[in-house]
Amino acid sequence: MSDPTDVPHVPIAIVGTGFSGLGVAIALLRAGFQFTLFERHNDIGGTWLENTYPGCQCDVPSNLYSFSFAPNPDWSQTYSFQPEIWDYLKRVAEQFDLRRHVRFDHKIYESAWDEVAQRWRIETSHGPWTADVLILGAGALNVPAIPNLPGLEHFAGKIFHSARWDHQYDLVGKRVAAIGTGSSTIQFVPQIQPQVKQLFVYQRTPPWILPHMNRPVTPREQARYRRFPWLQKLARLRVYWVQEFFSLAFTKFPRMARNAAKLGRDHLARQIADPNLRRRLTPDYEPGCKRILISNDYYPALTAENVELVTDDIREVRPNSILTADGQERAIDAIIFGTGFKVTDNPMSQHVRGRGGVTLAQTWADNGARAYLGTTVPGFPNLLLMTGPNTGIGHTSLIVMIEAQLRYIVQCLRWLKRRRLTTFEVRSEPFVKFNDELQTRMKRTVWINGRCRSWYLDQHGRNTTLWPDFTWKFCLKTRRFNPRDYSWTAETS
Ligand code: NAP
Repeated sequence: MSDPTDVPHVPIAIVGTGFSGLGVAIALLRAGFQFTLFERHNDIGGTWLENTYPGCQCDVPSNLYSFSFAPNPDWSQTYSFQPEIWDYLKRVAEQFDLRRHVRFDHKIYESAWDEVAQRWRIETSHGPWTADVLILGAGALNVPAIPNLPGLEHFAGKIFHSARWDHQYDLVGKRVAAIGTGSSTIQFVPQIQPQVKQLFVYQRTPPWILPHMNRPVTPREQARYRRFPWLQKLARLRVYWVQEFFSLAFTKFPRMARNAAKLGRDHLARQIADPNLRRRLTPDYEPGCKRILISNDYYPALTAENVELVTDDIREVRPNSILTADGQERAIDAIIFGTGFKVTDNPMSQHVRGRGGVTLAQTWADNGARAYLGTTVPGFPNLLLMTGPNTGIGHTSLIVMIEAQLRYIVQCLRWLKRRRLTTFEVRSEPFVKFNDELQTRMKRTVWINGRCRSWYLDQHGRNTTLWPDFTWKFCLKTRRFNPRDYSWTAETS
């Protein structure tokens, strides 16, 4: 053990430099706080640094999928691709001179609350640090989920996950298996289809797919946004309310989601002529129960001569092939997993220890992941979660939720600082009340009643990931920090 006095100390430690981490850093900078960001990679960007698969694009319009305080008049499309979003984040980091606050290549192994020192001890790949306050902004979609397929360990070809795309591996002329048919796969399949010799798309559940409305932003529009920034604000507001309308279908009147089913079926009928293929691509659950996808080129890619949709279960992976339950064996050179992320079972929760050494995972074991306003958890003093439990979004931009949390967190830390207090910890009463109400509201949603199983639900079938209401309601709830929701301690010495 190193001498505790040797351990570098920071007032506020922020983990991650994606939209959450950078957003918190900017908010704290503006409020006059000192902080340090810890980033496991050697650059900023979070999800938009990691996801570089071909065709990676955000399915939320860019005017809303960006910080309200840092608009970008230069978006080249209404829905941006990964390189442009990553560039945007890098520009924002430059604009606010954030890089000097970042410790790059610092992977966090464990964070533990030190009861005696009243601070967090953070074990990183470069040794321990301590912090008065710990803010976790590592995101929910950062640990790839690779299914435990029988025989996978014996596969002799190439294997990678969509979020860890191997650009060194040449797909030209290869027989490729794409496993999973979620948001990522439907974007990379049309991109790689022309290169590969054969593409087998292994589908377990067909997604609902609606037409994509992307279009280029014209130079005239860009010039107008630059000259009259309020025009872009107006455009953002318009997108916000259009997207917010979808919340009605998901959270209040699930029957409305059925209108989307007609749109989806029409889209499928327009793009897929073969009735057998169409049948296998038609979902049997309510739209919205899993994330609704948007694409104009996925279905057409499936009809290409070198593509086969495989809907039989995978029975075994062999060294050079995949065997399905119908007994068919297909020769494969490379497997690409588009199988999503560990969300409700994110390992991070096993490595954050609060009072008494209890981890977040242990705290959440019985009743699922819960936090007060998605941000604070009893038993975890001076810990703030960005995009914590039930702050995810199925219908609009996560940035709206992130910005609401930023305002809340700054108020909390101001209260701590101005009153020279040492710790804050959410009281159990508001925490329980908030979560009980949230889960009551959740019962009406399409995510519970839509007849599907999605990554939104934990192993007990509870939705611990999404916010079950309009985002403006979350903004209202987090607008005024209420110190009475917390217990506070002051320095005793
Ligand atoms: P995903 O949407 O969770 O899709 C995972 C796919 O893998 C599903 O089709 C799933 O089938 C399948 N799968 C999982 N385990 C499997 C198994 N054991 N055997 C066979 N199939 C299996 O993952 P993703 O595409 O990486 O996207 C994750 C999330 O990231 C999205 O929901 C979205 O929030 C975000 N994202 C957004 C964008 C965008 O903005 N366009 C792009 C990429 C990702 P089942 O449906 O049967 O479970």
